Amino acid sequence: MMTLGNFIDGRRVASNSGRKAVVFNPTTGNERLEVALSSTDETRAAIANASEAFASWSKVTPLSRARVMFKFKELVEKHTDELAELITSEHGKVFSDAKGEVTRGLEVVEFACGIPHLLKGEHSLNAGRGVDSYSQMMPMGVCAGISPFNFPAMVPMWMFPIAIACGNTFVMKPSEKDPSTPIRLAELLKEAGLPDGVFNVVNGDKESVDVLLTDDRIQAVSFVGSTPIAEYIYSTASAHGKRVQALGGAKNHMVIMPDAEPNQVVSSLMGAAYGSAGERCMAISVAVCVGEAVADKLVSDLTTEISAMKVGAGMSADEPNMGPLVTREHADKVLGYINQGISEGASLVVDGRDFVVAGYENGYFVGPTLFDHVKPGMRIYDEEIFGPVLSIVRVASFEEAVGLVNAHEYGNGTAIFTRDGDTARQYTEMAQVGMIGVNVPIPVPMAFHCFGGWKRSLFGPLHMHGPDGVRFYTRIKTITARWPTGLRAGADFSMPTMS
Ligand code: NAD
Repeated sequence: MMTLGNFIDGRRVASNSGRKAVVFNPTTGNERLEVALSSTDETRAAIANASEAFASWSKVTPLSRARVMFKFKELVEKHTDELAELITSEHGKVFSDAKGEVTRGLEVVEFACGIPHLLKGEHSLNAGRGVDSYSQMMPMGVCAGISPFNFPAMVPMWMFPIAIACGNTFVMKPSEKDPSTPIRLAELLKEAGLPDGVFNVVNGDKESVDVLLTDDRIQAVSFVGSTPIAEYIYSTASAHGKRVQALGGAKNHMVIMPDAEPNQVVSSLMGAAYGSAGERCMAISVAVCVGEAVADKLVSDLTTEISAMKVGAGMSADEPNMGPLVTREHADKVLGYINQGISEGASLVVDGRDFVVAGYENGYFVGPTLFDHVKPGMRIYDEEIFGPVLSIVRVASFEEAVGLVNAHEYGNGTAIFTRDGDTARQYTEMAQVGMIGVNVPIPVPMAFHCFGGWKRSLFGPLHMHGPDGVRFYTRIKTITARWPTGLRAGADFSMPTMS
């Protein structure tokens, strides 16, 4: 079986660590390839390479760096189907969804193409008499990215295009569950004209990650994954003096007011809860119905819609709505939550257990699942399931709904469905959540805005991409310069002032 190695110094290199993990095709359950789990020395070698490349890449003009990004954008567009096929064969999401992922990643590349404008800095003429001050945005050095399984193309593309366009070099550590796409992106970057060593991919697990968190040459670490690991990444890398942004897990609530348009609610919720088998950090996993009538109608409508859903192989011609989960372990974890929900007293309305797709009996499928009468304190409410399981929570008022959202430990995304502008506005002000949709179920910001949650969904002050992305991958240097104003001053021993 083929073993996927690393991409260092502009080429694929085999690993000799002796450690490997198997990558499965989640649709069939078959082994697809093995991925190397790199050693400490191999990870250090990638950092050394990126460190060497920084000396020259940081001096390339922003315009020339942007031109590499323009070319990279063209190449990713040209290879979208190929990349999406890789994603579907290792992650399991349906082909159209995989293409959508590549497109969302490309939006960040398009944002990075504008880097000459974004790096202009600030200038004050006559900050004092004859004194000018200017701040310039300098690259950090070698930056590291550590990404999760659920967006093997988009999440790395939240990170490296901006980092590289800002003049940094990069070491990417993808998820070991679906590692092929980042290596292919590295090849396309090289084809786009990126000098060797600027972007490196190291496959591995905790051993490689720990090197990235502690090596003195790494200046900044971007992480996306589950909350316990995000917290570990944040505390360890911060303790080693690095700038860190660590995005964690989520439990996203959709609040449904009595005046919401029912058809819009149901169609939005179907995609938001079950799209990509619920393996999205912005998936809606809790529908908070304000009033019993809202809940009764929603449960009935969802039950009908779920029965019409197509679940199947992501590459099949009839384009299913949902594919399998990423691994057997993850599918078992989700099934465990469904059993837990039943034993905790929630009403199981649609049961996704024992779900088999004909022809793919060994695939990691879990059917769309719906629970009603879910309450805080139940594990299916309190914890992130990250699968196709939607919980209905019934509340009596808008205030109770807001209280519920704000009491939850996560604060990644949320949505409110209503036709009342005042209610919507109050919600956007009161909800302690980083990204909010008004009649928009998955409010993922565009690349020119920032992406990030609040509370235990994000550790660190700066969000991904948008203005925060540029801030994260640069540091400010402020220069204060005095120029002769026509009078030659004598020696001045007083405390300098600018007035
Ligand atoms: P994960 O935390 O298990 O893994 C993420 C990365 O961390 C992987 O590269 C993995 O190799 C590495 N890792 C795992 N264990 C580690 C350890 N002990 N020490 C060091 N590194 C370790 O996450 P996952 O299962 O791949 O992804 C799903 C999670 O990601 C969900 O919780 C989801 O909500 C979250 N996520 C969040 C966002 C967001 O924007 N907030 C986006 C996508 C995914």
